[in-house]
Amino acid sequence: MTESHQKKNEQEDVSLYEKIISRTEELLVSSRKNLDEALKKAGDELSSAGNFTREQAEKVSAFVKRDIQHTFASAGKGKDSVKQAVDPKRVAAGAQSIFSRILSNAAETLTDWAKKTEQQLEYKTGEITSPGTLTCKECGEEIQMKKTAKIPPCPKCHHTIYRKSY
Ligand SMILES: [Zn+2]
Repeated sequence: MTESHQKKNEQEDVSLYEKIISRTEELLVSSRKNLDEALKKAGDELSSAGNFTREQAEKVSAFVKRDIQHTFASAGKGKDSVKQAVDPKRVAAGAQSIFSRILSNAAETLTDWAKKTEQQLEYKTGEITSPGTLTCKECGEEIQMKKTAKIPPCPKCHHTIYRKSY
């Protein structure tokens, strides 16, 4: 793949990420769907519309789900700590409000997910993630993600596995 093709794919994935998360939030508020159902429906709608393939929607939905899960795990279970974890000073404003609304509308599903995810979530080079701080598991180098984007290799040691914080 050429460099411009890769750039185009990345932009498509980021745009799909943003569409999925915003549609999921609407579905949570406007329907009786739980978070898993809302995420699935958002992905289905977007791939049926024809701009994205089903594979793309499934891949990017998994990234969205992980970020929601990670935000929730970082926040703990109290509503105040949810607000704190998505504090606009620490997270870009757009992501802050949408995560905050999803968390407050889906606490039940999230508690269920949290039980299933006992180990710490890993983030890898090439995946899409929301704003936050990524710390290289190999050398401890930190990368600030200021907007939703594809995760680069570690600028210092070129390893590809990170943990995330806000
Ligand atoms: Zn590193």
